[in-house]
Amino acid sequence: MGIIVQKFGGTSVADAKGLRRAAKLIAAAHSAGNEVVAVVSAQGNSTDELLKKAAEISFDPCKRELDSLLASGEQAAMALLAIAAEAQGCPAVSLSGPAAGIFTDGHYGEAEITQIDTGRIMKELYAGRAVVVAGFQGAAPNGDVATLGRGGSDTSAVALAAALGAKICKIYTDVEGVYTADPRLDPSAKKLDSISYDEMLAMAKAGAQVLHPRAVELAKKHKVPVEVLSSFTGTPGTVLMQ
Ligand code: ASP
Ligand code: MG
Repeated sequence: MGIIVQKFGGTSVADAKGLRRAAKLIAAAHSAGNEVVAVVSAQGNSTDELLKKAAEISFDPCKRELDSLLASGEQAAMALLAIAAEAQGCPAVSLSGPAAGIFTDGHYGEAEITQIDTGRIMKELYAGRAVVVAGFQGAAPNGDVATLGRGGSDTSAVALAAALGAKICKIYTDVEGVYTADPRLDPSAKKLDSISYDEMLAMAKAGAQVLHPRAVELAKKHKVPVEVLSSFTGTPGTVLMQ
């Protein structure tokens, strides 16, 4: 059936209910015969909370330690989501960015992915497990964990989809897709069935929160099929295409 990548944003896994909902989407894709790689963000606004904790104790926290701190948000979420998937009867294993073979440069806080070694993920997929990967992070050249910058989990998901040759990268979020305007602010906004990479890139750069610009650039470069959809409603979302 092929590999599918599912990405769950912070709002989609904010609490036990959200984790269960995301786990059901993983289990459904897995039992339909797909090889499933789920990429997860930190729960709710936990990244902001971790930043606040560091700010309470230092005006200028060391970037290396900040990355260790922030990466732990996604690592907590990955373990919880794997536990939730197992509870749905879906065999699952969680991997941090470094454990998943994601390598970055050494720019703490704004690292770029340089290479992905898919060996470990493929081994787990062959063993029949859904693989839950912590987004927003990878291994710096010295082995430290480095983060990709705010909103970086989208980039993790698209980069993994490209490296794995996934047939689709589904970005699950709290809106039903890409709209002509922000549906939370403008009730007349209309959902688009599809959008070109270039149009999406322009919207993302103009501040549309739905997808990170770097992720769109990467999707365009590697022609990764991406769908943005809601983890809450289960209705078809917006497909990004050439
Ligand atoms: N948790 C990180 C952030 O809030 C990464 C992400 O959500 O994509 O920026
Ligand atoms: Mg987040």
